[in-house]
Amino acid sequence: MATGLRFTNLARPAPGYVEPPLAPSESLLRLDRNENAYGPAAKVITAIMNSTAKVSRYSRSETESLTDSIARFHGVHRDRVLLGAGSTDVFRMASQAFLSPKQSLIVADPTYGGPEYYARFSGASVIKVPLTPEFAHDLAAMHVRVSSGTGLAYICNPNNPTGTLTSREQITKFISALPATCVVVVDEAYHEYTADAAQAYGTFIDPTQRYDRLIVLRTFSKAHGMAGLRLGYAVAPPELLEQMRGFALKDCVNPISAQAGLAALESQDALRDSVVRNEDDRQEFFNEATGRMLKPIDSHANFVFMDVLRPAQVAMQHFQQHGIQLGPKFPSMPNHVRISFGTPEEMTEFWRVWDLLPTVDPM
Ligand code: PLP
Repeated sequence: MATGLRFTNLARPAPGYVEPPLAPSESLLRLDRNENAYGPAAKVITAIMNSTAKVSRYSRSETESLTDSIARFHGVHRDRVLLGAGSTDVFRMASQAFLSPKQSLIVADPTYGGPEYYARFSGASVIKVPLTPEFAHDLAAMHVRVSSGTGLAYICNPNNPTGTLTSREQITKFISALPATCVVVVDEAYHEYTADAAQAYGTFIDPTQRYDRLIVLRTFSKAHGMAGLRLGYAVAPPELLEQMRGFALKDCVNPISAQAGLAALESQDALRDSVVRNEDDRQEFFNEATGRMLKPIDSHANFVFMDVLRPAQVAMQHFQQHGIQLGPKFPSMPNHVRISFGTPEEMTEFWRVWDLLPTVDPM
């Protein structure tokens, strides 16, 4: 376990996580990053405009207020909240605190690539365990692969890229059976979109604070529409956060982001509207897909993972040639492409370009 700053391998490019290529032109339609196509709530935009006078100062009172506000929102003590420049930044801190070259990170496959990328900062190895046939985390199989050298276990719920859920009961069982040396990260980046999920799903932010080795990640990047502002946080026991703080960049949350975060928490009606709009967009996507005999995986997020009936690379290249960026690639499911939902007009363009693909017989 780390006790101080460690700079292992910081200069080494991390293999395994490939950023999509830069847009060849400004006009490229990006349906590859699971952003909120509609942007943030009106109140958030006003807060951003009103906070420009603060940029000459390092953020302090704003981040303190945001920490308090997040704690109140979740019904936990403020010492259980840690802010970062996006939830990936918070994961980076966890990776540096709880992983080392002798330890491993265990993840599902396919899942969000950020944890693998940051695990390699710590020189840790990464163990990948395929999802179940229903695209949930195979927690029984993950448990078998856990050893005394497993520093972190990462569970993405809903999972990126599949948009699927893993049941709360199964995650609870998994956490309870872990050795005391293993910390679990449950990444709830898409939690807000699960409003329509069955009861089997449940957040792990728990005011009763049952688990002492559990870190839950949340972000303002998705349903709140603030990806560019880089704001996320962890809710976890103070002892874990204390170790992670040793790797925090000072003042990494700027005053504009902090004010925007406060406004976002006060915009719950707008958030609900955004989630309902996403449900409509998702339904519309499924209608269009089914009309073409396509079978996207049932999604509880603002994106979908779909068998495109040919190598993903071929479909992605076709879309890129027509000005639409999809992806990234997920090699363990080579015929599936992840598509983030855009506005209705953008999705009309998506389907127009889809219909230009040479036809293949759906199996
Ligand atoms: N976690 C998951 C599961 C994601 O899919 C993403 C972005 O796509 C992130 C975290 C990134 O969040 P942030 O922008 O807060 O770093």
